[in-house]
Amino acid sequence: MPLPDKAANELRMRELVAFTRTSLSTPHPSPFGSSVYDLQSGELVSQSYDTVIAETDPTNHAEVNAIRLATRRLGRLSLAGHVLYSTCEPCPMCMSACLWAELELVVFGASTMEDANAYWPQSSDVTPQELAQRGLREPGCAVLPHVERAACQALFHDCDAELASRELRLPPHR
Ligand SMILES: [Zn+2]
Repeated sequence: MPLPDKAANELRMRELVAFTRTSLSTPHPSPFGSSVYDLQSGELVSQSYDTVIAETDPTNHAEVNAIRLATRRLGRLSLAGHVLYSTCEPCPMCMSACLWAELELVVFGASTMEDANAYWPQSSDVTPQELAQRGLREPGCAVLPHVERAACQALFHDCDAELASRELRLPPHR
């Protein structure tokens, strides 16, 4: 199945950044957002923020939430023929979820260690590319890094400023 071109990836990532930015006016601001699109139709299937703090669940990363929403909406386990976007490089848990969901492509904006780690200390530095290379399914899952990275970095910065203005500390639940 043909993968989205550069312009489509950039447009979808900008739309995801705009969606994720709306979390800044909620009780739980987050720079982590994810969306799933149908590769054939180009239709948006799901999008979500992370809800780790809101739902007190360390597994509720944006990518996992977007996958759960998509599979429930479609009524099937496989997201073959779909692409996942994330404002941040997926962690090993999320990338494993992408492999389990049989996604064909993962596109991300900001880097885990260089951009996100200062905002939210990460639990691992295993990259999504490393996990994708160990995938057992054919065709495998392609990984496209740093699409609209600056816009995603700005999201992290602005979220941090919002948290500071409300005197919220992250991670406050630890
Ligand atoms: Zn994750």
